[in-house]
Amino acid sequence: MHADLHTRWLVVAVVVGVASTATAVAGPLQIGVAKAKLTPEQPGQWIAGYGDNRPAEGSHDDIWTRAMAVSDGETTIVIVANDLIGLFYPDTREIAAQAQGVPPDHVVITCTHVHSAPDVLGLWGPNRMTRGVDEAYLALVKTRIAETINAALGARQPAKLRFARAEAPEKTGYNCRERELVDPEVSLMQAVTSEGEPICTLVNYACHPEVLQTESRLITSDYVHYLRDEMESAGTGDVLFVNGALGGMVTPEIEDSTFEEAERVGRALGQAALEGLKTTDEIAEGEVRFSRGTFDLPFENVGLSMLAQLGVIHRQPTADGTVRTTVIGAAIGPAQFASMPGEALPKVGLAAKALMTGKYRFFFGLCDDELGYLLHAEAIDNPLYRYEQSMSANPRGTPLLMEQLAAALNAP
Ligand SMILES: [Zn+2]
Repeated sequence: MHADLHTRWLVVAVVVGVASTATAVAGPLQIGVAKAKLTPEQPGQWIAGYGDNRPAEGSHDDIWTRAMAVSDGETTIVIVANDLIGLFYPDTREIAAQAQGVPPDHVVITCTHVHSAPDVLGLWGPNRMTRGVDEAYLALVKTRIAETINAALGARQPAKLRFARAEAPEKTGYNCRERELVDPEVSLMQAVTSEGEPICTLVNYACHPEVLQTESRLITSDYVHYLRDEMESAGTGDVLFVNGALGGMVTPEIEDSTFEEAERVGRALGQAALEGLKTTDEIAEGEVRFSRGTFDLPFENVGLSMLAQLGVIHRQPTADGTVRTTVIGAAIGPAQFASMPGEALPKVGLAAKALMTGKYRFFFGLCDDELGYLLHAEAIDNPLYRYEQSMSANPRGTPLLMEQLAAALNAP
């Protein structure tokens, strides 16, 4: 039965294209960073991530969009990190289309998956059947992200890149489903000026930003706020946090759902990252290699299909029952980058890292889309993962995504 289903994916999947660019020689790097607040000026939006009916009563700290543009003189990519629950493919591509002087495909838009920001997907309104998105806020978010991408492109200056890694300390992220299934790696990419002055630092680690839970009514970027503060106070330049394979179910290991615990987790991770940055591989020039695979995935979730039909989420499958989605593969110097369009479970993220041969490996989750949980084989029919199965656009879709990812990583 599984084999039949697998065959069906392969038949139904329509590969729209693998767009890739490669330059002949490594060039001097140019890097720019920009950021803007996504905190709503007036509260009242529905908060996304836990139960329904959580109206925002104010904000504790700001939520952000942050963009980092990297060029080798020939190829340019932009990596964006947003303090949001997620963004669907149509929205990320609408934003990317506004980037100036760079192909939209080269704009890589991630969300931290914070559970204390306004709903921009639709699932967390006053009740399960009512769309939770404040459309004016979503429009503003898209405009602001696009402006920030262009600001990062405009801010490019000669730069060097440093790569490093660290390990997450005890009592930060842990897997509450199967404790041993976790990727503790913190992958780090820091841009510095020709004189060695930090411009920005990208931190890639897998853990739900959900210290603040269902009873909280304040907008916050959760532990990520403190992680960034810890690092920026130490002079790292602006920090971009990109989440990893946080699905099923990597969550902060906390005593209570409090800002004190969010601070403890965030600062502990920030300190580990700062320690990791003491030993780096630095490159002054390099080749930016980038490839994006875009394809149609069968949408096989009755509950989510119904919510799409009701207009709760704006992610209606096409007549053939698919949704378009995307993955990326990229490389710069000793580092490789892979993405998945949703909440990959740790085993899926580790399998993606195993496809990469670079000394430094980055796995971007919730990248350019949010298809819900992306399950590994043993989780598909496992009652332990019933919730993840119910919140996945296609619980059996991971092999197709992995196939597309391998192709993107192996593109010339
Ligand atoms: Zn989640």
